[in-house]
Amino acid sequence: MQNKTKFMGKKVFIIATMGLFSGDGTGCSARLLAKCGAEIVGGLHLKMPDCIGDEKALKKTIEENKIIVKQAYIKIKKSANSLKNGHATQEGIGFLYHIAGLFGQRIWFYGKTKNYSDKLKINTEKCIGCGICTQLCPMKNLSIVDGRAVQNGRCTMCYRCISNCPQQAIALLGKNLYEQCKIEKYI
Ligand code: SF4
Ligand code: SF4
Repeated sequence: MQNKTKFMGKKVFIIATMGLFSGDGTGCSARLLAKCGAEIVGGLHLKMPDCIGDEKALKKTIEENKIIVKQAYIKIKKSANSLKNGHATQEGIGFLYHIAGLFGQRIWFYGKTKNYSDKLKINTEKCIGCGICTQLCPMKNLSIVDGRAVQNGRCTMCYRCISNCPQQAIALLGKNLYEQCKIEKYI
């Protein structure tokens, strides 16, 4: 009940990041927020460096990622100017985007990713139990037991813990960590 009115009367502009294709990334959030009372004024899709740090095939060079971030910055500036002039960008919002997101992404990826909620691999020899990952996980999926991190089957594959573990002790899709992705590296 509380969530249903949380955004009541608020105008919301949604930004969704993507690796290659976002379908209706902003649209998904728009539908949820609208249910909580938000008035969705617009949306923007931004290509960003891929955060999946243990899949070598997805990795780009630092220089390539810097260009991607620079282009995102230009796109944000353009969109902000447009918003100031009363024309909010509508990327990801609307029926056609919804269909693109459904068939181009969710139907295919849902089957692939739903089995990963308990597949996080924590290297207990490397883990020092610092607890950084437990504080960063938005799903409260991680806890420290006997001085080591353990996962509790609620992972949504956001890669926050993987990118921030000082011991590089966590992986998900691959076995090795190729890059810990943080925006500071690309600006
Ligand atoms: S951040 Fe890394 S080292 Fe620290 S508790 Fe988590 S897995 Fe262990
Ligand atoms: S990948 Fe994200 S959701 Fe999964 S355990 Fe790490 S921080 Fe939590």
